[in-house]
Amino acid sequence: MRSTRKCRMVLNPPNHRVFKPTGIPGHQLEVITLTIDEYEAIRLADYEGLDQLEASKRMGISRPTFTRLIEKARKNLASFIVESKALTIEGGNVHFKQDIAECTQCGTRIKVDFENRKTVCPECGSEAFISIAEQYGHGRCCRNRGGKSEQTPGCGRGRNK
Ligand SMILES: [Zn+2]
Repeated sequence: MRSTRKCRMVLNPPNHRVFKPTGIPGHQLEVITLTIDEYEAIRLADYEGLDQLEASKRMGISRPTFTRLIEKARKNLASFIVESKALTIEGGNVHFKQDIAECTQCGTRIKVDFENRKTVCPECGSEAFISIAEQYGHGRCCRNRGGKSEQTPGCGRGRNK
């Protein structure tokens, strides 16, 4: 393991990966990427309204690192809105604390713990779910972590970043 870079803790995966303006064909849109840790910074500071110190603790990073992260995130988000780009949320050195399970029968989504995955859909009773965290690359690098809150260097590198 060459790197000691720590995973950034993210509560759960975003609900949607891609956002785009209506009425413009996808191929005409420039795509901007918001990394998953940038998404979490926006969620904690701007959606939940936490101060930067508390938000940095939630993500397991230093306050200055959080400040750089949120500035980059806001810049990307502003560019998405002002310049009418498509936005994709992916990548980043992250570890999810919780997963979102999506029912393959009716599409209902529920938050689940990684350790305690057996789930029955409250809407249709199905037991077939897909993991949203896995779609964001979770599991390939965090397989043996067992949900401990301790950080493992190098886990959860995200996709092709
Ligand atoms: Zn269902």
